[in-house]
Amino acid sequence: MYGACREHVEQVIEHFLFAHERAPELLLLSEAVPQEGLPGACYFCPLPPVYLVK
Ligand SMILES: [Zn+2]
Repeated sequence: MYGACREHVEQVIEHFLFAHERAPELLLLSEAVPQEGLPGACYFCPLPPVYLVK
């Protein structure tokens, strides 16, 4: 599971496709159920994530 800010969401999706060889599920972090292991930052920068790519 990766966090993504608005600016990097496309890059995070590409990274996911490359790493996992399948299309990711894209969620808004604000709609995700709070749980352990949620990313605290975008995968490509220190900004708080807006999306979850999983
Ligand atoms: Zn970012």
